[in-house]
Amino acid sequence: MFETLSDKLSSALRNVRGVGKLSEDNMADALKEVRTALLSADVHFKVARQFVDKVREQVVGQEVLKGVTPGQQIIKIISDELEQLLGSGETQLNPKKPLKVLMVGLHGSGKTTSTAKLGRLLKKKGYASPHVVACDIYRPAAIDQLEILAQANELGFTCDRTSKDVPAIGRAGLAAAKAAGSELIIFDTAGRLQIDEDLIKEVQRLKDVVVPDEIILVADGALGQEAVNVAKAFHEALGLTGLILTKLDGDARGGAALSIKSITGVPIKFVGVGEKTEDFETFHPDRLASRILGMGDVVSLVEKAQENIDEKEAERMAEKLRKADFNLEDFLAQMQQVKKMGSMQSIMGMLPGMNNVQLDDGHEKQMGRTEAIIQSMTLQERRKPMILNGSRRMRIANGAGVKVVEVNQLLKQFQQMQKMMKMMKGSKGRKMMKKMQG
Ligand code: GDP
Repeated sequence: MFETLSDKLSSALRNVRGVGKLSEDNMADALKEVRTALLSADVHFKVARQFVDKVREQVVGQEVLKGVTPGQQIIKIISDELEQLLGSGETQLNPKKPLKVLMVGLHGSGKTTSTAKLGRLLKKKGYASPHVVACDIYRPAAIDQLEILAQANELGFTCDRTSKDVPAIGRAGLAAAKAAGSELIIFDTAGRLQIDEDLIKEVQRLKDVVVPDEIILVADGALGQEAVNVAKAFHEALGLTGLILTKLDGDARGGAALSIKSITGVPIKFVGVGEKTEDFETFHPDRLASRILGMGDVVSLVEKAQENIDEKEAERMAEKLRKADFNLEDFLAQMQQVKKMGSMQSIMGMLPGMNNVQLDDGHEKQMGRTEAIIQSMTLQERRKPMILNGSRRMRIANGAGVKVVEVNQLLKQFQQMQKMMKMMKGSKGRKMMKKMQG
């Protein structure tokens, strides 16, 4: 359902290329497009504005990390902000056992289905003998529906088809669950077409009897901003602890998922992604954020670059290159730096559009051999390759398990590199460098 938003965001960010430093100026257009993308996904305008402001604050003046492009870096910032917006780190259920959950929501939101879905999921996660209680006294069909789902998913079930006393049904459910040793009891309440006082009062009476650990609103994600309003009203009346957003498999534009936490303060804990009982997932803001951005795993690429590339070290190397004071020892260090980021193939896999590109393993094997050759040299040899005579080369080849010609090749390559660097050092070279960086 996030395809359109995802497309728009990626096209907005694709234009942020070739900028040495992220600044308010060169980001302005991209940020405007990000805001438009959010608005057209039905995100609340205040939320969209705050979002863009926060991203701008972080972007301005940030140096672009070595090893990633400015575009990739801003994707990471946006992804972090999206995650924040979706309610990072707040999706955990109350860990209490037995856990009592009250499900509330409007008609047709998917409440009964989600009751069974939650029972099934938590049973798989180790809650013993989950029990569901049918508290909808108005619609016999809703009771039947829950009974069928409970049987199909091996959940305990309590109902009373003749009673109109909701708190009494709740009490009976608690007793039955206790007798069965249930670690999870879920109460499915009646819904209405709209929120009204009678509905809220009835749920409140049930709440007083049951004393739930979680009060979860089931809201139809396809309703967009309307779902946000519903959540706000239920939260004010009952004090929600979490949300289940349903029908995210449909063509909803995602606005509800993106603004509901920020407007109501209530975190999304689960999402419904289909009609079947197994179409139900624990909500992961980070995963959704990266799905929305549709950027393969650019985010983890930037994280890796942040973790692994030591900026000072990179600068020291650049300085050495400039001074043409670059020996085989430095060459080895550089290669290891690249290796720390993972194999070439796995790095390629993280780049959007590149994950299907297969590198032949020749490249990596070659790197491995080069590394072995340098490692077989003494420190002195690495620093002063000119002392490498025939017998030394033979010894190194044996040590690295390669032929002498390979050692010769590497040394020749390295000599060419040094020549180039010496040329670069001159004034002509500086011009050339400038052109290359251009
Ligand atoms: P209730 O009135 O709130 O109890 O709603 P129901 O549980 O009866 O669900 C209403 C309709 O929405 C049913 O046809 C469900 O199959 C459907 N439904 C519930 N959750 C989802 C979902 O996540 N995705 C899809 N596609 N349909 C859902």
